[in-house]
Amino acid sequence: MLSVRNISRFIQIGNNAGPNGKYLAVIQALCSRKYSASAENDLVVIGGGPGGYVAAIKAAQLGLKTVNVEKYETLGGTCLNVGCIPSKALLQSSHLYHQATSKDFSSRGIECTGVNLNLSSMMNQKSNVVKALTGGIAHLFKQNKVTRVKGSGEITGPNEVTVTKDDGSKEIITTKNILIATGSEVTPFPGIDVNKKNIVNSTHALNLTEVPKEMVIIGAGVIGVELGSVWSRLGSNVTMVEFLGNIGGMGIDMEMAKTMQRILQKQGLKFKLNTKVTNAVENADGTVTVSVEAAKGGKAEQMNCNVLLVCIGRRPYTKNLGLEAMNIQLDNRGRIPVNSRFQTSVPNIYAIGDVIQGPMLAHKAEDEGILCVEGICGGAVHIDYNCVPSVVYTHPEVAWIGKTEEALKEEGVSYNVGRFPLMANSRAKANNETDGLVKILGHKETDRLLGAHIIGSCAGELINEAALAMEYGASCEDIARVCHAHPTVAEAFREANIAASYGKPINF
Ligand SMILES: Cc1cc2nc3c(=O)[nH]c(=O)nc-3n(C[C@H](O)[C@H](O)[C@H](O)COP(=O)(O)OP(=O)(O)OC[C@H]3O[C@@H](n4cnc5c(N)ncnc54)[C@H](O)[C@@H]3O)c2cc1C
Repeated sequence: MLSVRNISRFIQIGNNAGPNGKYLAVIQALCSRKYSASAENDLVVIGGGPGGYVAAIKAAQLGLKTVNVEKYETLGGTCLNVGCIPSKALLQSSHLYHQATSKDFSSRGIECTGVNLNLSSMMNQKSNVVKALTGGIAHLFKQNKVTRVKGSGEITGPNEVTVTKDDGSKEIITTKNILIATGSEVTPFPGIDVNKKNIVNSTHALNLTEVPKEMVIIGAGVIGVELGSVWSRLGSNVTMVEFLGNIGGMGIDMEMAKTMQRILQKQGLKFKLNTKVTNAVENADGTVTVSVEAAKGGKAEQMNCNVLLVCIGRRPYTKNLGLEAMNIQLDNRGRIPVNSRFQTSVPNIYAIGDVIQGPMLAHKAEDEGILCVEGICGGAVHIDYNCVPSVVYTHPEVAWIGKTEEALKEEGVSYNVGRFPLMANSRAKANNETDGLVKILGHKETDRLLGAHIIGSCAGELINEAALAMEYGASCEDIARVCHAHPTVAEAFREANIAASYGKPINF
């Protein structure tokens, strides 16, 4: 993800003055000691997604001669091209359209007539955002002297990557280290062929040319509810079929999953939980008939739709990478096993991002990329996966970090719960956005913040306050004693920490 945070991070580290400069000098010294000069390059990164491009730029800034191999025309991987960025552009635009066409605007005294949807313009705006951001990475590569090679990379030796170009020609690149950042791909649904027309996956659902009257989505995980929200706001009648008993996927706190479901249902989304899809067939009139039944088995039911979106998750992408020849075995979920320094079973071949264990998230891939490269240069490597936040960009947003209540119960950890409803927060009230709450889990004895779960219009921003607190081991009282600006939704975060720490909401 090309964010302001990333750009400033690159600029700061690139500057040789100040504390970062000293750090850079130490790392550079370590680098120059570590390697013999037998190979042409220090690092070849395979994959130009948020893991790979961030790692490549960081490596170049730390003085490594770096090559990035990406098979697609544009850099940025899933995140920038067909993931985080285009989905967020459509979520924002569809939210504004929905505000204007639902009772939201009129409830604020804004009376609009003649509001029309120009879907192709909306799609153009999204494509322009993608173009600008992917182009920005190409620019950063040039600025930081990362060599880009376009083509498919295969590891043909512990110090060799062979790139097959579009015209079939091959380029052999020799290197001291290899970093695999090949990401993930959409998981196919057995027996259902995605025809990109009326049976689509998340990539195609970002590019539909008309709003489907009826849409069925298989999977009510994070991507499913986001894309379901987009098309529902634009006028589609959306039903989501989910095998699990909750929406929001794995790792979400059950109280928040239920609250999110209630809010989305109020917006018109329909959910069929504990239900499995058994079949889907395309009809002669272009509609699709989807067969479903209870997850535990039962009477079959059929649903008709204009578009079926298959959204059951993503799987690591390791096709044609040459791993077998390197004797790098995959785990039972198709991921590349790595140690705490991101080394595979071949010590100078590393892997990060969606292709290894952990949540499939862009910011997780980015952080691993930075840490892995610092590690290659001899630096310390540490990542606490408990401190990686998750966000669902529905409206309101749903965000969380750390432990859920269910996980704490399972682990036998005693905890306090502090809740604060947005209905009681002055900024949320002023904004007319009172759906949601902050729920804080603090350790019963130590008061340490163990988990934060937020539903609110800016939950995705607010969760970073919890990330900072958790990363530095803050207690709920530490947060409660920090002055928060008024009126802000962040005050609800503070209040929930007060409630967790003192047992009831208090005002200082
Ligand atoms: C619709 C959608 C919405 C999402 N929204 C969010 C979100 O809001 N926030 C979030 O954190 N995450 C989100 N994600 C997930 C996020 O996109 C991924 O976690 C992230 O992109 C993983 O980064 P990566 O670098 O590991 O892999 P990728 O981004 O998948 O990049 C891998 C790159 O490697 C290239 N590649 C693969 N094999 C080869 C090869 N042999 N040779 C050359 N190149 C190769 C691929 O072409 C690709 O460009 C979303 C995903 C989707 C699909």
